[in-house]
Amino acid sequence: MKFGVLEGNGIGPEITKATQHVLEATGLPIEWVHIPIAEEAIEKYGHPLPQETVKAIREVKVAVKGPLLVDKMQGRLTCVHDDGTEHTYPSLNNAIRRELQLFVNPRPVRGIPNISGKYEKLDVVIMREITEDVYIGWEHKIGRHAAQAIKLTTREAATRVAKYSFEYARQNKRKKVTCFHKANVLNFTDGLFLECFREVAQNYPDIESDDFMIDAACYTVVKNPEKFDVIVAANQYGDIFSDLSAGLAGSLGLGAGANIGEYASTFEACHGAAPDIAGKGCANPVALILSGALMLRHVGQTEKGANIEKCVREVLSEGKFRTPDLGGTASTMQLADEIAKKVSKC
Ligand code: ATP
Ligand code: MG
Repeated sequence: MKFGVLEGNGIGPEITKATQHVLEATGLPIEWVHIPIAEEAIEKYGHPLPQETVKAIREVKVAVKGPLLVDKMQGRLTCVHDDGTEHTYPSLNNAIRRELQLFVNPRPVRGIPNISGKYEKLDVVIMREITEDVYIGWEHKIGRHAAQAIKLTTREAATRVAKYSFEYARQNKRKKVTCFHKANVLNFTDGLFLECFREVAQNYPDIESDDFMIDAACYTVVKNPEKFDVIVAANQYGDIFSDLSAGLAGSLGLGAGANIGEYASTFEACHGAAPDIAGKGCANPVALILSGALMLRHVGQTEKGANIEKCVREVLSEGKFRTPDLGGTASTMQLADEIAKKVSKC
């Protein structure tokens, strides 16, 4: 089976290598298709996200993707298509998602015994909408002393992410779907997002549904982590809430994620490229390893994906191999190798 691999930058290459090692330990006949991105793509094609890269991901359909530094792009990136049309995006990560028409970013966060303390029972899947909201990057300056950004919500995108979430809940035997919003202030945009959610919820009487203001949701997850199950959120709220959840579980290095589209899907950690620890071999590879497990589930290798998840939890709970963000001294590869050893015995 063929999987794409985009190493990214910062800690990307280190945690990507660790993830490939664990995925290979499943014994599946994996063929990696190396796809250049960022600096490597600039060197080869003169652009951080050339159409060659977009096409290669589409061709292979699923890919593991390391994180990418956001500040390097200095805000904007223009992609030119074969037919001459152009699109400008606020960041390279955003450009990949939109060029590939990826529409939902599921981010499961689950507490781990002996690590997460009060948040051991935290078990949420955040379904973050990724095609619109303020992250479309429609910003402009008004003179030197003011600036404006547009928040976009469409019925089509809000309905699509709500449907995906309820379908996911049904297939994965989850009990409840909660919509996060701030519809009391943003009547039109978040109001529409909530309206679409409620319409979709009516078609799933077997699944409980409710909604929370995003600020109240942040407070509630800290005080009462068992309150939430599957969560649907617009782009920015979903982004922030997933870092919060990963932090409660113990580290940003534990938050896995996928970017799902109709034509292709990429699998990447919640966290960024962590330039402060890049190259030191101490980054926690777990978030990307768990994203790799999501990729296996996505291609129908449910049991192999579940095995990786189980082994990650066991190794971390045992406590002998933990990276510094979790209070240990293990290196990225030591932790990955310990997980791989367990996976190969499953
Ligand atoms: P982005 O905008 O791309 O999401 P960010 O500004 O949110 O990036 P991160 O790169 O996610 O920032 O890093 C935030 C902090 O978390 C940093 O101190 C970083 O070292 C730490 N961190 C992130 N990922 C990991 C990891 N896998 N292992 C250990 N520490 C990490
Ligand atoms: Mg971040």
